Amino acid sequence: MSSSKPLTIQIPSPNYGLPRGTLGRAGNNVIAIVDHIMSGTLVGTDSWFQNPTSVVSAHFGVGKNGEIHQYVDINNVAWANGVVDKPSWPLLISNVNPNYYTVSIEHEGQSGDQFTEVQYQATLGLHRWLIDTFGFEVNDNTIIGHYRLDSVDKAECPGPGFPWARLFKDLQGGSDVLNIAVLLYTKEDYWAGADVAAKNGNCAIFVRPDDHSVPADAKSAKQLIVIGGLTTGHPNEVLLSGNTKYDSAAAVAKYLGIK
Ligand SMILES: [Zn+2]
Repeated sequence: MSSSKPLTIQIPSPNYGLPRGTLGRAGNNVIAIVDHIMSGTLVGTDSWFQNPTSVVSAHFGVGKNGEIHQYVDINNVAWANGVVDKPSWPLLISNVNPNYYTVSIEHEGQSGDQFTEVQYQATLGLHRWLIDTFGFEVNDNTIIGHYRLDSVDKAECPGPGFPWARLFKDLQGGSDVLNIAVLLYTKEDYWAGADVAAKNGNCAIFVRPDDHSVPADAKSAKQLIVIGGLTTGHPNEVLLSGNTKYDSAAAVAKYLGIK
């Protein structure tokens, strides 16, 4: 199940593309979302990004009122993350401006502000849609703060008020956003399930109920790894199962690369 694009208000910025006005990303794939704090208001950011002399922009701005403003098309390069200074982001590509392979979201407020609930829900929906659109996994290297790129001048962006824990929990736990899930035949298969889940970024683990049906959240995962029992009919199933529990254990061991 993929997320649909949240409602956005288009406020095009002239500050995009390298050099200005260039369409596209020069062949680079988007591999991360970079979160920012405006250190100001949504209306102030609207006018700043519309001003060519500011030479800055982001793809999106999320207001305390829950409005999402879009300044730059996601297929184009925004001017948000160009300066790299003492970074702590392992996916950084050397000598390539990070704006080429990131999408940027500004948030209304000052560093340290708590998000309003509608602001949180708006940015959550926006993150979900972007993750689905670009198809990357959810982890702390695909969703990062600006400070990971510039720890010197942007150490407080987005700052201590940013709801990292809640955001990761919602992005990883929502039934409509699971990329991979593991389905166990019984609780006894948990030893194998934990290892298989660890191999897949600690993805969610489900256990079949007594009637051996498939839980809805597991069914909606993009890929389902089934340990023990019969096929689920999932269109993207990895079946690690045999006629006996020993056959199933062997299938799991083979999947994990254990001889
Ligand atoms: Zn920033």
